[in-house]
Amino acid sequence: MKAKLTTKSLIGRLEAAGVQPTAQRIAVFQYVMCEGDHPTAEAVKAWMDEYFPKMSLATVYNTLRILVKAKLIREFKLPHTDKVVYDCNIKEHHHFLDEDTGKLIDLDSETIKLNPRLKRKYRITETHVLLRGTRRSE
Ligand SMILES: [Zn+2]
Repeated sequence: MKAKLTTKSLIGRLEAAGVQPTAQRIAVFQYVMCEGDHPTAEAVKAWMDEYFPKMSLATVYNTLRILVKAKLIREFKLPHTDKVVYDCNIKEHHHFLDEDTGKLIDLDSETIKLNPRLKRKYRITETHVLLRGTRRSE
Protein backbone atom coordinates (compact mmCIF):
# COMPACT_ATOMS: atom_id res chain seq x y z
CA MET A 1 0.00 0.00 0.00
CA LYS A 2 1.74 3.12 -1.22
CA ALA A 3 0.61 6.64 -0.62
CA LYS A 4 1.03 9.72 -2.78
CA LEU A 5 2.23 12.43 -0.48
CA THR A 6 3.69 15.83 -1.18
CA THR A 7 6.91 16.90 0.51
CA LYS A 8 4.82 19.43 2.42
CA SER A 9 2.54 16.79 3.87
CA LEU A 10 5.51 14.53 4.69
CA ILE A 11 7.09 17.41 6.62
CA GLY A 12 3.76 18.06 8.32
CA ARG A 13 3.55 14.45 9.49
CA LEU A 14 7.12 14.46 10.77
CA GLU A 15 6.55 17.68 12.68
CA ALA A 16 3.23 16.50 14.12
CA ALA A 17 5.03 13.40 15.42
CA GLY A 18 7.74 15.56 16.99
CA VAL A 19 10.43 14.55 14.49
CA GLN A 20 12.73 17.29 13.24
CA PRO A 21 12.27 17.20 9.44
CA THR A 22 15.85 17.09 8.16
CA ALA A 23 16.38 16.51 4.43
CA GLN A 24 17.57 12.95 5.08
CA ARG A 25 14.60 12.06 7.25
CA ILE A 26 12.18 13.50 4.71
CA ALA A 27 13.83 11.41 1.97
CA VAL A 28 13.77 8.15 3.97
CA PHE A 29 10.17 8.80 5.04
CA GLN A 30 9.17 9.58 1.45
CA TYR A 31 10.74 6.37 0.18
CA VAL A 32 9.02 4.13 2.74
CA MET A 33 5.67 5.92 2.35
CA CYS A 34 5.55 6.43 -1.40
CA GLU A 35 8.16 4.43 -3.30
CA GLY A 36 9.26 1.29 -1.53
CA ASP A 37 7.08 -1.71 -0.95
CA HIS A 38 7.87 -3.16 2.48
CA PRO A 39 11.55 -2.28 1.92
CA THR A 40 14.46 -3.51 4.00
CA ALA A 41 17.00 -1.01 5.35
CA GLU A 42 19.33 -2.12 2.53
CA ALA A 43 16.69 -1.23 -0.06
CA VAL A 44 16.24 2.17 1.57
CA LYS A 45 20.01 2.66 1.52
CA ALA A 46 20.26 1.68 -2.16
CA TRP A 47 17.63 4.26 -3.03
CA MET A 48 19.16 6.91 -0.77
CA ASP A 49 22.56 6.43 -2.44
CA GLU A 50 21.26 8.39 -5.43
CA TYR A 51 20.34 11.41 -3.36
CA PHE A 52 22.57 11.23 -0.29
CA PRO A 53 25.61 9.20 -1.41
CA LYS A 54 27.39 9.83 1.87
CA MET A 55 24.66 8.48 4.09
CA SER A 56 25.83 5.32 5.84
CA LEU A 57 23.72 2.23 6.45
CA ALA A 58 23.95 3.01 10.18
CA THR A 59 22.39 6.42 9.57
CA VAL A 60 19.65 4.81 7.48
CA TYR A 61 18.94 2.42 10.37
CA ASN A 62 18.92 5.30 12.85
CA THR A 63 16.53 7.30 10.71
CA LEU A 64 14.21 4.30 10.29
CA ARG A 65 14.31 3.72 14.05
CA ILE A 66 13.29 7.33 14.69
CA LEU A 67 10.36 6.99 12.27
CA VAL A 68 9.25 3.70 13.86
CA LYS A 69 9.50 5.16 17.36
CA ALA A 70 7.40 8.13 16.26
CA LYS A 71 4.82 5.60 14.95
CA LEU A 72 5.06 7.04 11.44
CA ILE A 73 6.03 3.67 9.96
CA ARG A 74 6.10 0.14 11.32
CA GLU A 75 8.74 -2.53 11.28
CA PHE A 76 8.13 -6.23 10.91
CA LYS A 77 10.36 -9.17 11.45
CA LEU A 78 8.93 -11.87 9.23
CA PRO A 79 9.90 -15.51 9.19
CA HIS A 80 10.63 -15.69 5.44
CA THR A 81 13.75 -13.53 5.75
CA ASP A 82 16.17 -12.62 8.49
CA LYS A 83 15.77 -8.96 7.56
CA VAL A 84 13.41 -6.44 9.10
CA VAL A 85 10.99 -4.87 6.64
CA TYR A 86 9.53 -1.39 7.00
CA ASP A 87 5.90 -0.72 6.36
CA CYS A 88 4.10 2.51 5.51
CA ASN A 89 0.81 0.98 6.59
CA ILE A 90 0.58 1.75 10.30
CA LYS A 91 -2.90 0.30 10.71
CA GLU A 92 -3.08 -3.21 12.09
CA HIS A 93 -3.00 -5.53 9.11
CA HIS A 94 -1.80 -8.94 7.99
CA HIS A 95 0.43 -10.00 5.14
CA PHE A 96 0.28 -12.47 2.32
CA LEU A 97 3.67 -13.55 1.04
CA ASP A 98 3.57 -14.43 -2.63
CA GLU A 99 6.11 -17.24 -2.80
CA ASP A 100 6.51 -16.84 -6.57
CA THR A 101 7.60 -13.22 -6.44
CA GLY A 102 8.60 -12.68 -2.80
CA LYS A 103 6.18 -9.75 -2.71
CA LEU A 104 4.32 -8.95 0.51
CA ILE A 105 0.71 -8.00 0.05
CA ASP A 106 -1.22 -6.15 2.75
CA LEU A 107 -4.38 -7.84 3.98
CA ASP A 108 -6.98 -5.91 5.88
CA SER A 109 -7.16 -6.94 9.54
CA GLU A 110 -10.83 -7.81 9.00
CA THR A 111 -9.92 -10.64 6.63
CA ILE A 112 -8.78 -12.86 9.49
CA LYS A 113 -11.13 -13.41 12.39
CA LEU A 114 -9.76 -14.41 15.75
CA ASN A 115 -11.64 -16.95 17.74
CA PRO A 116 -13.38 -14.87 20.47
CA ARG A 117 -12.24 -17.43 23.06
CA LEU A 118 -8.69 -16.17 22.56
CA LYS A 119 -9.71 -12.69 23.60
CA ARG A 120 -11.23 -14.06 26.78
CA LYS A 121 -8.07 -15.88 27.65
CA TYR A 122 -5.45 -13.33 26.59
CA ARG A 123 -5.19 -9.59 26.47
CA ILE A 124 -4.10 -9.23 22.87
CA THR A 125 -2.21 -6.05 22.06
CA GLU A 126 -1.24 -6.86 18.50
CA THR A 127 -2.16 -9.39 15.85
CA HIS A 128 -0.06 -10.08 12.84
CA VAL A 129 -0.62 -13.08 10.62
CA LEU A 130 1.62 -14.04 7.73
CA LEU A 131 -0.04 -16.13 5.07
CA ARG A 132 2.17 -17.65 2.42
CA GLY A 133 1.37 -19.20 -0.88
CA THR A 134 0.88 -18.36 -4.51
CA ARG A 135 -1.72 -16.39 -6.37
CA ARG A 136 -4.29 -18.34 -8.33
CA SER A 137 -4.37 -17.45 -11.96
CA GLU A 138 -7.76 -16.25 -13.10
ZN1 LIG B 1 2.18 -4.24 5.20
